[in-house]
Amino acid sequence: MPATASSLQKIVSQLATHYGKPGPPITTDPFELVLLESVAYLVSDERREEAFKALRRHAGTKPHEILSASDERILKATKLGGMHPEQRISRLREIALIAMNEFGGDLWQALKLPLPKAKQALRKFPSIGEPSAEKILLFTRSYPVLGLDSNGLRVLLRLGFGKEKKSYTATYRAVKEAIGDQLKKDYDWLTSTHILLRRHGKELCKTSAPLCEKCPVRKSCAYLRSQVSKPSR
Ligand code: SF4
Repeated sequence: MPATASSLQKIVSQLATHYGKPGPPITTDPFELVLLESVAYLVSDERREEAFKALRRHAGTKPHEILSASDERILKATKLGGMHPEQRISRLREIALIAMNEFGGDLWQALKLPLPKAKQALRKFPSIGEPSAEKILLFTRSYPVLGLDSNGLRVLLRLGFGKEKKSYTATYRAVKEAIGDQLKKDYDWLTSTHILLRRHGKELCKTSAPLCEKCPVRKSCAYLRSQVSKPSR
C-alpha cells in the first residue's frame, strides 16, 4: 500500500519510537539560528553545535558582539566547524552587519511580519533559502510551518509524498503540498518531525544506498516497493 495522505503522523510516531523523542533545538533565537547555519561547513550536527557553543563562549552571539570580536576569538569557533575557517569569520561578520543595518540588531520584529514577508526578511542573510527560513520560523515559534532540510525532503519523497521535479525548489514545494493537509499545527510536533526526518535521512535513508533493511518505516515506503518489484536481470 502506498504512503497515503493519512499516514504521515503514523510515520513520525514510528520514527520517534525508533530514534527516541528528540531533545529541544540548541537555540530558539532567530539570530543565533542564522549564525548556526554559517558557523560550520560540511560537518556533523554535533561538530556544528560545538563550533556554535565556542562562538557563544569566545565572541558572543549578538550582532554587536560579532562585529566587535577579534578575528582570533571568532576563529576559535570557526576552526571547529570544518574547512576554510577564515572565510567563515567574514561570513559571520557579514551576517551581523545585515542584522544591524536591516533589522536594527533585533530579528524578532521581522518574525511578526505576515508569513511571506517574514520569510523574505530572513532570506536577506547568506545561506538562508526558503527551507532554512521556514525552519527558523518554526524553531522560534513564529509560524507553525514545517521547514525541511535536504535529508527530510529525500525521506518524504522516497516514502511517496510528492514527486521529484526539475528544480529543488519545485520538488520542495511539491512535497510540502503533498503533506500540507496532514500536518499538526503544533510547534512541538512540527519541531520533532523536522528533527526526526533529518536524522532518518542522515542515518538510514542516506542519499546513496539507504539501509532499508533496518528502517522502521519500510512498510510505508514507495521507493522500497519500487525496488522490490523491479524485474531481476
Ligand atoms: S525503506 Fe529505505 S528508502 Fe524507504 S524510508 Fe526507509 S531507508 Fe528510506
